[in-house]
Amino acid sequence: MADNSDKVVDLKNLSFSDSVSYYFDKAAPFTGASQGLLGQIKACNSIYKMNFPVKWGDEVRVIEAYRVQHSHHRMPTKGGIRYSTAVDQDEVMALAALMTYKCAIVDVPFGGAKGGINIAPRNTPVDILESVTRRYTAELVKKNFIGPGIDVPAPDYGTGEREMAWILDTYMTLRPGEVDGYACVTGKPVSQGGVQGRTEATGRGVVYALNEVCSHADDMKDLGLTTGLAGKRVVVQGLGNVGYHTARIIREYGAIVIAIAESDGAIYNEKGLDPVEVHKYKEEKKGVVGFPGSKTLNSSADALELDCDILVPAALEKQITHENAPRIKAKIIAEAANGPVTPAAEEILNKKGVMIIPDIYINAGGVTVSYFEWLKNLSHVRFGRMEKRFDEQNQRNQIKMVETLTGQTLSPEHVKQMIHGADEIDLVNSGLEDTMIKAYQSIRNFKRAHPDVKDLRTAAFGVSINKIRDSYYAMGIFP
Ligand code: GLU
Repeated sequence: MADNSDKVVDLKNLSFSDSVSYYFDKAAPFTGASQGLLGQIKACNSIYKMNFPVKWGDEVRVIEAYRVQHSHHRMPTKGGIRYSTAVDQDEVMALAALMTYKCAIVDVPFGGAKGGINIAPRNTPVDILESVTRRYTAELVKKNFIGPGIDVPAPDYGTGEREMAWILDTYMTLRPGEVDGYACVTGKPVSQGGVQGRTEATGRGVVYALNEVCSHADDMKDLGLTTGLAGKRVVVQGLGNVGYHTARIIREYGAIVIAIAESDGAIYNEKGLDPVEVHKYKEEKKGVVGFPGSKTLNSSADALELDCDILVPAALEKQITHENAPRIKAKIIAEAANGPVTPAAEEILNKKGVMIIPDIYINAGGVTVSYFEWLKNLSHVRFGRMEKRFDEQNQRNQIKMVETLTGQTLSPEHVKQMIHGADEIDLVNSGLEDTMIKAYQSIRNFKRAHPDVKDLRTAAFGVSINKIRDSYYAMGIFP
C-alpha cells in the first residue's frame, strides 16, 4: 500500500468507498500493521456483479445486482442486502468494507460483505420483489456466494424478515438436506429459525452504546452535558427499522425525542414525541407530517440542524456534508446509518468539538445479534432452552434456604421476580449490551492511549485494524 501520509485528499469529492479508504488511511499509522498487511486488509477481495432478467407484468426487465465480499480473513463473510435505486458497485464496496471493520470491533468472527439490488422496493409489486429475491439467491448459489460457512446475508435498507425468508426458502430448495442450511441467512422471522430481538437489535445497540458513551462524566463535561440519557434532547432522521427502534428505546431511558425526520418532512415537539404513535401514524398516512400536536419544519433536512444533544441520522449515507455541517448544532452525532457524515463534514464537525460516534461501532448491534442467530442455527437449539428451568429451581432453593435461616418470607411477587430464568430475548439483549459496552471501552482506551488520535472514528478504525492484523498473524501469513 502506498504511503498516503502527505497526499492531499480532496475531501469534498470522495466517492463513498474512497471515504472508507480515507478513514482507514488516517488510522493506519496508529496501528502496528506493516504496509503489506495494511494493503491486504484494505483491499476488496471479491466482487460479483450480476444482471438477470425478471418477468415484470407484460415485459421482461434486466435487474442489476451485486454481492461484494470485502475480506476473507474470517469466514463466513457477513453483511446485509440493500434494495434501492441508488445501489451501484461503489456503494456496495463501501458498505462491504464497513462490515469488515464493524465485525472486528464487536468481536463478531466474520469477514465483511454486502449485497445490493438496484430496485425501488416501495414501487415494486410484492410478487416481483419475491421473484427478484429468489433469482438473486439462485445466482449467489450458482457462484458459491452464499452458505453458512461462505457468506451469510441479512437485512439492510429496503429489506427485512420477508426477504430473508424468501432467501432461506430458495437456498433450502437448491441445497436440500444441508443440515446447517438455516444459517445461510440471518434476520429471518423467528418462525423460520430467526432469533428473538434481531429486528430491533441495531436500534437497541445504538441506545446501549449511547448509554455507555453518556456514562463517562469527563467526556460529557467536555461537551457541556451531564451524564446519563435521561433528559437528553434527541433528533432522529429516518423512522425505518433502525430509527424507529432507536427512538422508541431511547425514550424508555428517559431521553426526549424532540424531532423526527422522514422523506415527506420533519415534525417537532419540544415536549417530546412518542415514536410508537408517530410510527403508527406514518404507517397509516404514509408520512409523518401532520402528526397531532407536532409542528412541521420547512423541510426534512432542517431537522438535522436543530439545536439538540444527540442527533441520530438513521437513514442513508452522505446526509451531513460540508454544506450543512457548519449549521449542525448537535453535541453528539450517533451514526445509526452507514456513512451518514462525509469526511469533509467530519473535518468541520471535529473542529466544532462535536462528538461523532462512528457507524462501524454504533450500528454494529444488528450484526452482533445476527451472529447470535447464526450460532442458534448451527446449534439447532433455542437460547435458554436447556438452562431456564434449572436456573429457576436453583434460585427457588436459595430463596428457601435464606427464608429458613432468617425466618422471613418473601412475597410471591418478589419470589417470581427473583427466580426468573433467562429466556432467549433476555440472553440476546444481555449479550448485545455487553458487546456494545466492551467495544466502546476499547475504542475510548485506544483514543486515550494515542494522544494524536483526536476523534472516535480514527480510534475505532485503529481498534479494528489491529484486531484484523492479529487474525492474519494468527494464520501466520504476514510477518
Ligand atoms: N445490514 C446490517 C449492517 O449494516 C446488518 C448486517 C448483518 O446482520 O449481517 O450492519
